[in-house]
Formats: sequence, structure tokens, C-alpha cells
Amino acid sequence: MNQQGTEIRELQTSDSPVSPKVNLTSKENRVITFFKDATPLDWEDWRWQLRNRIRTKDVLSKIITLTPEEEAGVDGCSDKLTMSIPPYFASLMDPEDPNCPIRKQSVPLAAELKESPHEMKDPCGEDANSPVHGLVHRYPDRVLFLVNEMCAMYCRYCTRSRMVGDGERTLNTATYEAAFDYIRSNKKIRDVLISGGDPLTLSDRVLEYIIKTLKAIAHVEFVRIGTRIPVTLPQRVTTELVTMFKKYSPIWMSIHFNHPKEVTKRVKFACDLLADSGIPMGSQTVLLKGINDKVSVMKKLMHELLKIRVRPYYIYQCDPILGSEHFRTPVSVGINIVEKLRGHTTGYAVPTFVIDGPGGGGKIPLSPNYVVSYEKGKATLRNYAGKIFTYYDPPQ
Ligand code: SF4
Repeated sequence: MNQQGTEIRELQTSDSPVSPKVNLTSKENRVITFFKDATPLDWEDWRWQLRNRIRTKDVLSKIITLTPEEEAGVDGCSDKLTMSIPPYFASLMDPEDPNCPIRKQSVPLAAELKESPHEMKDPCGEDANSPVHGLVHRYPDRVLFLVNEMCAMYCRYCTRSRMVGDGERTLNTATYEAAFDYIRSNKKIRDVLISGGDPLTLSDRVLEYIIKTLKAIAHVEFVRIGTRIPVTLPQRVTTELVTMFKKYSPIWMSIHFNHPKEVTKRVKFACDLLADSGIPMGSQTVLLKGINDKVSVMKKLMHELLKIRVRPYYIYQCDPILGSEHFRTPVSVGINIVEKLRGHTTGYAVPTFVIDGPGGGGKIPLSPNYVVSYEKGKATLRNYAGKIFTYYDPPQ
């Protein structure tokens, strides 16, 4: 285990309030100095990170040199999707390079204030498929349970920008109970995806109440959590949290990763804690122009994920949310990325490329076409290198 990881584990399991051994990286040390009286122990505390999220131009401009385009974005974003960046995630930003992939995902730009044709407020049609507040029921055997409206960092391309960041409400118990009742009374529901907002911004106590209640429903056989926190605020993954998860095993986790720069030692440590606790992890990646739309970047990300025991699962075409044009790529870019991964690297490193059918069509997989022709029981196929092969069906 790396030196940093060892130190964090000692801190989290120690009864002593202060570990003198906590070492921050040079980038973290640079950022913590902008927070008066903050200590390395504060930096390791996820609640301190949440309380001190960067939400104003004043604070942000101390950490990075803002461009006019970013200044206009920060000034105008509050009516749309507020800005929020944990100090840890801000420490990954290049202070001088506006093309830094971390910066482009988290700092608003003036471009997001412009709406383009075919963009929508609710591109996945979730509200139209919501039988009770907080639940989206699109497929017969599974539901999406949106348990809160707060995230650590507001991704500038967020599909749920219509609901997250707005007052950061947590649903009340009555709303949760109505959702549980709906799930209880629909015996076909075997799979619940807990998402939000980001569920890991909730306390362990509230999370346990949600998980425990779901696990007590006999027909719910599969519970998963969708989160970006292990990436934007890895301090949140504590021994206490994973110990609680372990009680309700199996719990699966889908983690939103977009760039290899996000896979830091802290993130590796968080994923080690999760994996060592028996939590299978898959990744979800949004394809974003100028951030991860190059084959080399995406391949590197997938390799880094395998190294931290996260199985690449989905690459999403960026949803046509209002103000997303500057993030969106042609569909062909995603297909080409998959083409350049499949056969060219480990199969485990090849996620499925999907588009959420705009307006509520659900996930539609897209793949390069390897079938040259298929007729009269004869399939002519090309392999990853372009060589042609023939497969004959058995007699029918
Ligand atoms: S973490 Fe997810 S829900 Fe939250 S802002 Fe990012 S994309 Fe949206």
C-alpha cells in the first residue's frame, strides 16, 4: 500500500483526533492555504470538504486564473446549475490551463448559458416516468431511486441539472416511505438503483436506513448505488461507511469517472476500501468533447480503472441537456473509440457505448458493425484488424 494510503487508514481508524502523519500532496498543500486555519486533518474530513466546497468566484479566482469565458459562466450559472467544487477536487485543477480536463468538468463556462436546438431540460424523460416523488420506473423489473438532490461537485453537463443544486434538499421521511411503499407493492421490482444527486453526500445513518429498508423487501434482490463521490470526494469512503455496506452485502456500486487524471492515490485508496469490503464496482463515463474524446485518453482511463478494480461498464453519449452543445460529440466519436478498444486491449477494458434515447427511450447500445453480411446461414464477419472470416450456421 502506498505511503499516503497507510496514513489515511491510520487516521480513519484511530480514536485519536489528530494524526501527525497526514501528508498532503503539493497540489493539496497549495489549495489548503486558501482556507483559513484549515489543517491536514480537516482536509481528510469529508464533512469539512463538503462545508468548504468552492461556490463563489471570489474563492475560485484565488485557486485558478479565470478566463473571461469562465468568469461569465460563474457569474451566470446560479439560475441554472450552481457551481460546487470540493477543495480536494479543485486541487487537481491546473491553475493556468483552462483546457485542464478537471477544470472543464467543474468550472462553468459562458457556453453553458446558451441553449441549442434539440436540447432538453429532462433529456432522459425521468419526470414522465416517475410514479412517486424520487422514483423513476421505466423498466418492469427495476427502479431508479433518487434519494437526494445534492452532489459534492456539480458536473457542468449533468443530466439532472433540472433538480440538483437547487437548494440541495434531502427528501423527507414521508417521501422515502412513499417510495418504499411503491416498491413493496410492485413485486416485479427486483433491482433498485440508489442515485440522486449523490447518495454518498448523505450521512451513514440515513444511507443505512435506505439500504436496510430496501433489503428488507423480499422481492428486492439487487441494490446498487450510483455515485461520483469516490472521485470528487474520496475522503467520504471511510472504514465506517464500508463496514455498514458490508452488513447489507451484496451492494454494487457504479462510479462516474471521466478522465485518467481523476484516478489519484486517494481514489485508489477509496476503491481499495470498497473492493476489500466485497463491493463490486463498475464505471460510468460520459463522453465529453475536449476532455475524453480521444482514444488514447479513454484507453488510459479504462486501464487505470482496471488497476483499481473498477470494471469499465458504460460510456454514455452526453445527453442533450440545455447548454450542453460545447460538451457533445458526434455519435461517430463514441463508436470509433469502442472500435479502437475492442480487440486492441483487454476485453475487460471495453465498456458498452450507449445513448439514452432522448425523451425517455432508455439505454440504446451502439457498437461498430462487425457483420459484413449474413444470409442463407452464412455470416461474413470482420475482426478487429479488418480481416474477413466466415461462419456457417448449423443446418436448420
Ligand atoms: S455527480 Fe451525477 S448527479 Fe451530481 S452533478 Fe455530477 S452528473 Fe449530476
